[in-house]
Amino acid sequence: MLIKSFRLRLAILYTIIISLMISAFAFSLYREYHSELYKTFDDNLIKDAKAELIAENKTSTIRQNAEMVRKYSNEFYRVINSEGKFIIASADNEKYRWPLNMDIMRITLKGTPNFETIKHKGENYRLLYYPVDSENILRIGESLYDTEQKILILNRLSKMFFPLIFLFSALISWLFAWKAVSPVIKIKSFAEQIRTGRVEKRIDMRPKGSEIDDLVKIFNEMLESIQNFIESQKRFTSDVSHEIRSPLTSLRGNIEVALRKKRHAEEYETVLQNSLSDILRLSKIVDNLLFLSRADNNTLELRMQRFDIPQLLKSITEQKRSRAIAHGLSIAEEYQEHLELLGDMDLLEQAFSNIVDNAIKYTPSGGKITIKAMNVDNNPTIVVSDTGVGISQEEIPNIFERFYRVDKSRSGKPRGTGLGLSITKWIINAHNGKIFVKSRAGAGSDFVIVFPQKKIKNS
Ligand code: ADP
Repeated sequence: MLIKSFRLRLAILYTIIISLMISAFAFSLYREYHSELYKTFDDNLIKDAKAELIAENKTSTIRQNAEMVRKYSNEFYRVINSEGKFIIASADNEKYRWPLNMDIMRITLKGTPNFETIKHKGENYRLLYYPVDSENILRIGESLYDTEQKILILNRLSKMFFPLIFLFSALISWLFAWKAVSPVIKIKSFAEQIRTGRVEKRIDMRPKGSEIDDLVKIFNEMLESIQNFIESQKRFTSDVSHEIRSPLTSLRGNIEVALRKKRHAEEYETVLQNSLSDILRLSKIVDNLLFLSRADNNTLELRMQRFDIPQLLKSITEQKRSRAIAHGLSIAEEYQEHLELLGDMDLLEQAFSNIVDNAIKYTPSGGKITIKAMNVDNNPTIVVSDTGVGISQEEIPNIFERFYRVDKSRSGKPRGTGLGLSITKWIINAHNGKIFVKSRAGAGSDFVIVFPQKKIKNS
């Protein structure tokens, strides 16, 4: 039969182990008591034999006083000569005429005492053959009745004791099993609550320094990440809907207003231009989301090639220069010669462009943007600095999150999708590079990108 309950299985196992241990202990105690009882019995017989010989003034007296009879409560003795004739007997009673074992007699006459256990007239006796001299032995016997009674009582007690041991073990085992399994049961009941969607709950258990503490910690950390994931998914979905809704609302509003009455060609042109910019923004959001979704699903493949970093940066700067000038900004460049990198040039162009675009976007007129590329400790390093609005220390860790903007007001003219830095970070990380930001609100920002010297993993 398969027992499903872990607690019950544990309790049964504990019961078996505890019962076996107590039984083994009780059994060895019993064995010890049993052999000690018989040993003491034999020792006493020897002591009696010695005392008897001293009392009878050794063999000569024994022989001379052949008729002497001494009687003890249930001890009887006889002196027997080497032919097996009784010289002295403690009681001339049929009951105590134990059969004589001539083999033991012969060994005893050689000088060593010997014991024999016999059943005589329904009663067990322990007989001692004790050498008196080379011709005579003293035989003392004593009924084993009292000793057997003690063993019998012990046996009866054990029979009563064993079921009690079993019950006691079962009780202790159940308690142990309950205590051992109760944290797991608590975790299970939490897991059941979580299954119903309550991921905000945490297992609240007093730490006891056991492995269960680690399990609870891991479980709570897992819940934390699940909760964070769910929240970020919710935030993401709501951000996506919001980001898409804004240009759609503006598009719809513009078209509805334009259609209300007949308008001049210039007015239609303005509406179309506004609509185009909304459509471009929509398609940029969709493109960026598509990129991130492919990045999340690991379906983006890097097309690795060796290229010159300054050359790529120069071409990006040239594309952006007119826009920077239009914003009233100047761009300075400082490149170390022959700085090569193995990577996906198109993706890296996208990443560097995002950073330069941001520098232009977030630097007020009159500011300066500096783009540098050099080897630092043999690591190709790119730094894009601006003298713009800067980012406060608290905001820096957030700017790489999807849809995160330092300026949260989505009203007014939209400045970006809020996805650029998430994409940039993904691309840099895919090249085993790192991106850092040094910035202070109002004091401009430095975006630093460091690539590893060698080996770029194609992930
Ligand atoms: P966005 O499309 O809004 O620019 P990004 O992901 O590129 O989205 O940037 C996230 C946010 O980080 C921006 O909204 C802006 O608040 C901040 N940020 C990025 N670059 C700079 C910069 N050079 N100076 C100041 N703030 C910046």
